[in-house]
Amino acid sequence: MENCIFCRIVREEVFSYTIYKDEVATAFLDINTVALGHTLVIPNKHFNRLEYKR
Ligand SMILES: [Zn+2]
Repeated sequence: MENCIFCRIVREEVFSYTIYKDEVATAFLDINTVALGHTLVIPNKHFNRLEYKR
């Protein structure tokens, strides 16, 4: 998605402290950290919501 901040981080248009990245997901330090090492893990593909299905 064009202006989604997470998609922009995945596309490396916005600086982030990336911890890990592969073809499925990206992990990076949260800018509004609440604890040392607070890390967000996001899918590289844009989703409006996450849904767990068995
Ligand atoms: Zn997105």
